[in-house]
Amino acid sequence: MTDRKAQLAANLAQVEERITSACTAAGRKREEVTLIVVTKTYPASDVRILHELGVRHVAENRDQDAAPKATACADLSLTWHFVGQLQTNKVRSVTSYADVVQSVDRTKLVTALSAAAVRADRELGCLIQVALDAESGERGERGGVAPDGIEELAAAVDAAEGLRLDGLMTVAPLAGPFAGRQRAAFDRLMELATRLRAGHPAANMVSAGMSADLEDAVAAGATHVRVGTAVLGVRPGLG
Ligand SMILES: *Cc1c(COP(=O)(O)O)cnc(C)c1O
Repeated sequence: MTDRKAQLAANLAQVEERITSACTAAGRKREEVTLIVVTKTYPASDVRILHELGVRHVAENRDQDAAPKATACADLSLTWHFVGQLQTNKVRSVTSYADVVQSVDRTKLVTALSAAAVRADRELGCLIQVALDAESGERGERGGVAPDGIEELAAAVDAAEGLRLDGLMTVAPLAGPFAGRQRAAFDRLMELATRLRAGHPAANMVSAGMSADLEDAVAAGATHVRVGTAVLGVRPGLG
């Protein structure tokens, strides 16, 4: 085993242990939670190693980095999640490799994603990104729609050709009433997810929790956790 593979294997084992413990503590089955490894800023060679180690879901947040990486890993059976703020001029590229876009937060994006999915003859899974700190009618600083904008977007995704409404995603807010209160934030997301499912029963994905707060997300009921640093190491600079 290379040093890098041994390191990633050890990190993955630790994250796996954390998810398993959190599931046990919450009385949930381990299979109810899917680990998505966020590979942003790390090379395609790491994605390849992660695949060898059994990872099947990866996430990226910038198309410029993700597109070449996905191409380099096209032979691997991986589900690619896009989790970053998405400009409409990047939508065509993202649609060429992403299976799920977790950062849907405005109707203009829904229209663009639908057109690109139809053009590429692909079905694209969509999560609506919720900004729990955003005021009514506004969007969050790191993307996301205010809770009262969820239903309008859900209806738009539902009506859009080529798109599939999969559920909700959030990033725990750094500001506002939920700052530093991850568990409360994720509980709130679960309430919103339950409400969404009442009208859209197939939209049962809840993506929440990162390296620092995955236990809170699992306790709240998240179905997907997005973990970067704890698997790959601290990213140099911003990412
Ligand atoms: C980077 C990122 C993550 C992973 O964060 P870590 O703290 O490195 O685990 C999760 N979700 C989104 C949207 C991200 O951009």
